[in-house]
Amino acid sequence: MSHLVEHMALLAGQRDPAALDSCFVDLFAELLSPRRLRVLRSHAAERRKWYVTRSHGHLEAMTSPEAPVRAEDAPLLLQCIQLGEPLTLPHRAPDLPVFTLVPLTGESDDIAIVEIATDTPIGTDLLRTVNAIQRFSMHLHALLDENERDSLTRLLNRKSFDETFVRAALNIDPVTLPPVHGEERRRLHMEGSHWLGLIDIDHFKRVNDVHGHLIGDEVLLLVAQLMKSTFRASDRLYRFGGEEFVVLLRCGNARGAEVAFERFRAQVEQTAFPRVEHLTVSIGFTAIEASDTPGSAFERADQAVYHAKGNGRNMAISHERLTAIGLLQNNDLDGGVEFF
Ligand code: GH3
Ligand code: MG
Ligand code: MG
Repeated sequence: MSHLVEHMALLAGQRDPAALDSCFVDLFAELLSPRRLRVLRSHAAERRKWYVTRSHGHLEAMTSPEAPVRAEDAPLLLQCIQLGEPLTLPHRAPDLPVFTLVPLTGESDDIAIVEIATDTPIGTDLLRTVNAIQRFSMHLHALLDENERDSLTRLLNRKSFDETFVRAALNIDPVTLPPVHGEERRRLHMEGSHWLGLIDIDHFKRVNDVHGHLIGDEVLLLVAQLMKSTFRASDRLYRFGGEEFVVLLRCGNARGAEVAFERFRAQVEQTAFPRVEHLTVSIGFTAIEASDTPGSAFERADQAVYHAKGNGRNMAISHERLTAIGLLQNNDLDGGVEFF
């Protein structure tokens, strides 16, 4: 019992969904001693794909941690989210474990389920405890969501950018945070490259002036939806206020980042927006360095946007490319307070 309360206290202190996933895995592992546990997440844009974000224990033919679950299982997982309570699956064969699905979130952009494999079905008393934990999880996720998201577009807000920049950029498991410095920081950085892209709608003031703020807001919402359907689930999407959006893109090389941002630019250009019809965006992006603060990386992307605005708009260009062709100086920028 006291262990349970300790887990609850740890959970209530988390501010990141990924950290919550880890805590729930630990809690269910201790409570149920399962053969295996894993957390499956799905993003609004790709409801048939579920990603394993955390796992515990082993089962024969365990798939790689990044591999999505089989598409044919997806309806069952969605059904469990809609049901909003634990779902024990029919036992397929005596030598196979019993699978119980526990929804960690309600219906929202990012949904999560913990899949628990046990030797025998979970007993009534334990199931009641699992049920209570599950309701606790839903409330926590709803609170986090409210705190982290922009109310118009439901994209992440600026506040959450500052809070998660370092973790996302350096691939650090939130649970192990802090402290990372020097060599450790560089090593973590090399394992997963990230890019920061700043998207600014061109001539947005005109949209408001000609069509009014309500249509302006609708355009912002549509741009946010295009972002959700164009970028990957592993990318983090933010609205920084007004008509400025930010993407933290996870991508191994410059070419991939260029393709991703250019694809989004073209997508906006080709979309027929109601009333406004034609809309374009200017995008500046930059590779995140191990030494970057949120401010310094943002400043480079902003310089690239500034260049695009002065050179015809409707362009996706990186700070690195502009520096290479001599159109920008590679100053040692420091756009903000030291973050560590
Ligand atoms: P540029 O191509 O140089 O970016 O021109 P712009 O008109 O987009 O740029 P500017 O920064 O001058 O104007 C941004 C406008 O965005 C100003 C304001 O009318 C509008 N805006 C800011 N926040 C909101 C919002 O929440 N809703 C709506 N509808 N409009 C907003
Ligand atoms: Mg602007
Ligand atoms: Mg603008």
